[in-house]
Amino acid sequence: MENENGNNITNSSQNLISKIYRKNFHNDQSILRSNDQDQMKILSAHYESLDYDVCENLLYLEEEHLKGYKFVVKKNVCRWLIFLLIGACTAFIGIFIDISIEELSNIKYNRLKTYFDRFITENNLLLPFGIWVAFNVIPVLIGTLLVTYIEPVALGSGIPQVKCYLNGVKIPRVVRFKTLLVKTIGVITTVVGGIAGGKEGPMIHSGAVVAAGISQGKTTTFKTDFGILKFFRNDHEKRDFVSGGAAAGVAAAFGAPVGGVLFSLEEGASFWNQSLTWRIFLASMISTFTLNIVLSTYHGYPGHLSYPGLLNFGKFDDLSYELPELIIFVVIGTAGGVFGALFNCINHKLMIFRSRYMKAKYSKVLEVIVVAAVSAAIALFLIYLSNDCKPLGDDPTKNPVQFFCPDGQYSTMTALWLQVPEASVRSFFHDKEGSMDCSTIILFAMAYYILSIWTYGINVSAGLFIPNLLIGSAWGRLIGVYLRNTFPDSEWPDVGKYALAGAAAQLGGVVRMTISLTVILIEATGNITFGLPLMVVLLTAKWVGDFFNEGIYDIQIRMSGIPLLAWEPPPLSSNVYASEVMSYPVVTFKKRENVGRIVDVLMKETYNGFPIVDVKDIELEEEELEPKPRGHLRGFILRHQLIILLKNKVFNEIPSIWESDQISLEMFRQQYPRYPNINDVNITEEERNFTMDLSAFMNPSPYTIPHKASLPRIFKLLRALGLRHLVVVNDNNEVVGIITRKDLARYRVSKHFGKIIVEEMNIL
Ligand code: ATP
Repeated sequence: MENENGNNITNSSQNLISKIYRKNFHNDQSILRSNDQDQMKILSAHYESLDYDVCENLLYLEEEHLKGYKFVVKKNVCRWLIFLLIGACTAFIGIFIDISIEELSNIKYNRLKTYFDRFITENNLLLPFGIWVAFNVIPVLIGTLLVTYIEPVALGSGIPQVKCYLNGVKIPRVVRFKTLLVKTIGVITTVVGGIAGGKEGPMIHSGAVVAAGISQGKTTTFKTDFGILKFFRNDHEKRDFVSGGAAAGVAAAFGAPVGGVLFSLEEGASFWNQSLTWRIFLASMISTFTLNIVLSTYHGYPGHLSYPGLLNFGKFDDLSYELPELIIFVVIGTAGGVFGALFNCINHKLMIFRSRYMKAKYSKVLEVIVVAAVSAAIALFLIYLSNDCKPLGDDPTKNPVQFFCPDGQYSTMTALWLQVPEASVRSFFHDKEGSMDCSTIILFAMAYYILSIWTYGINVSAGLFIPNLLIGSAWGRLIGVYLRNTFPDSEWPDVGKYALAGAAAQLGGVVRMTISLTVILIEATGNITFGLPLMVVLLTAKWVGDFFNEGIYDIQIRMSGIPLLAWEPPPLSSNVYASEVMSYPVVTFKKRENVGRIVDVLMKETYNGFPIVDVKDIELEEEELEPKPRGHLRGFILRHQLIILLKNKVFNEIPSIWESDQISLEMFRQQYPRYPNINDVNITEEERNFTMDLSAFMNPSPYTIPHKASLPRIFKLLRALGLRHLVVVNDNNEVVGIITRKDLARYRVSKHFGKIIVEEMNIL
C-alpha cells in the first residue's frame, strides 16, 4: 500500500499513524511525516535483539533444584568477583593507553620543538612542516589500517554501539577481544597522531569488551574456552556485566565512579535493580582507584592518589558563583546547544556523504591521511599567522617554542598545538588571565571546531569528549575574558570558571547527556558547589540542541540503521492497540511436533521465536485479512533452541538421548552466543517423520499482552523488561499475533525545529 507521500507502508503502521492523526492531531501542524528518503529511514534487519528474559523451562528448574542454595551463593560470589576484576582490568587498559600516549606524544612534541627551534632560525618552515605531517600521518595510518581492514566495529568512540548493546541490540563483534585490541592501538595512534579525537569515549567501549570477555570465560578471537563461568552465558547476565564494564570505563576515563554508574543507567540498561547498582558501583570504584594508584606512582607521587582518571581537569582555585550568574550560565548553555546542534548537523551531512560516495575502503584510509595532514597544515598556518608572544618563565606549557617571537618569549599558539589536547583544556581552565590573546583563542577554537566535525566519523578509533571540551573551554574562556573586561572591579568573573561552563555546554550540546555528564564533570572537577551551574548549562544545552536535531550518538545510531527501541512510545498513542501493531498470521508449534514440519518452518521462515499452542489446526494463509486464533498459548520456544534440539537429535523416537545426561542447559550454553544455523542440521528422511516433545524446553510462562493493550503498555513491557518477543492473545488466551522489539523500533518519534516527527522506518 502507498501513502500520500508515496512511501510503502504496511497495514499496521498505516493504522498507527492514521490513528495518531485521526484522534489527536487532526488539525495540528506540529506533527509531520518526514519525506526524507535518506538513510535515516532504514532499519537494518542485520541487527538482532538480545533477550533479557530468562527462559524458565523445565531444564532451568531442574538445574536450580539440583544445585540448590549453594549454587546461588556461588553464582553471587562469582558475580561480585567478576565485577571487581572488570574494574581492575579496565583500569589497566586505561593506564596502558594513557602512558603510551604520554610517552609517544612527549617524543613527538619534543622532536617537533627541536626541529622548529633549529629551522626557524634558517627561515625554513617546510622541513619542520613535513616532519609534523609525517608525525601525524604515520601513527594515524596504522590506526586507520587496523580499523578499516581488521575490525571496523572499533571505529569511533564506541559509545553508540555500547548504548545499543545495553538497550538490547546485538551489534556483531562489538564485545570481541579483537575489537578491544584494535580499539586500544587505534586510540593511541589517533591521539598521538594529533588529530581531533579523544581517548575517553573509547575507554567506555573498552570497559564493555573487558566485561563481556571476563564474564564469559572464553574468547572467540583466540578460539579459547576456559570452561569456567558457564552459568553466565546468557544475554541477561552478559548484559549486566557489560553495564558494569561501561561504567568502569567512564570511571577510568574521568575519575568519576558515580558518573559511571549514572552513565550506564542513563544511556544504557533499561532494566535495573539494586544489587546490580551496587556491583556496578564496585567496578567503577575499583577502576578509578586502580588507575589512581598506578598513575600517581608513574607520575612520581606514589600514595598521593591525585590521578583518578585519564582526563585530569586540574585544580580550580575558585568555582564559587553568585545567583545572578545563573543567567550567564543559561546563555552559555544556549550557545552550547546551538554550537552542538550545528556540529551534529554538519557531521550528519558528512556521514551521509561518506556513506554514499566513500564506500571503498581505500577512500576511507585516504580521508584519514588527508585529515591528519590538514590538521598539521591548519595548525602551522595559524601558528604562522599568530603573533601572540608571551615571556618565557611563566609559560604553562611543557614545550615552549620561540617560533617568530623575540628572544625570551614563546608563541602561545604553538604551545596550544604542540601538546596533547587535555593539556590545552587545562591551559584554558587554569592559565593566568592574559596568558594568551583573544585572537589566539578565537582562531584556535574555530580551527578545532572545524577539524573536530570533520574528524568525528573518519575511520579511526577516537571519541569526541576531549575535542568538544577543548572547543567549549576556548569559547567559554573568551566569555570569561569579556566579562572580566566589562566588570573589571568585580570579583566574580573568573575566566577558568566560564571556560569550564563553556566546555560543559559544548559537550552537552553535542552528546545531549545530562545527569551522567553533570556528575562526571562534578567528579572530574572535584567541586560539588559548581554542580548547579553545570546542571543548568547542560540542561539548557540539551533543550536548545534538541530543538534543532538529535544528539550525535542518536544520529549515528540512525545512520547505521540499528533498531534501537525509542525511550518513549509515540506521544498520544494510547488509542493504538496491540492488534494494530502485531504481526499475523502467527507461525506456531504444538508441544509434540513433527520433526519434518519444524525443519520446513525453520527453513522457510526466519522468525526467531514461536508460540507453542494446544491443538487448533488452521491452515496458514499467506494474506490473512483478519487475525485468526491459533490455539491456546502454552509456551514459547526460540529458534536457536529448536535448532540445537534438532542438531542433538532430541527426538521421542530415540529414547537413548533422553536417558543420557546430554539433555541439560549445558547443551544450549555451549553454543552461546553463536548458535548454529538450520542449514548446519542434517535430518534424514526417516527422522522427518519423528516427533519432538518441546514441553521441557519451551518457556512455559512467556510474557503476553491482550490484543486490546495500548501501545504505551507494549512499549513499557518490551523496554523495561528487555523482552524480544511479546505474544498477543485474545480474550480466550488464544494466540492471535506476535510483536517483536523491532516491530516497535520502526516507529520513531523525533523533534526537528520544535516539530514532532513520527516516522516509520523500513526494515531491510
Ligand atoms: P529480532 O531479529 O531482533 O528478534 P525481528 O523482528 O527481526 O527481531 P523475527 O523473529 O525475525 O524478529 O520477526 C520478524 C517479523 O516477523 C516481525 O515483524 C515479527 O513480528 C514477525 N514474527 C516473529 N515471529 C513470528 C511468528 N512466529 N509468526 C509470524 N510472525 C512472526
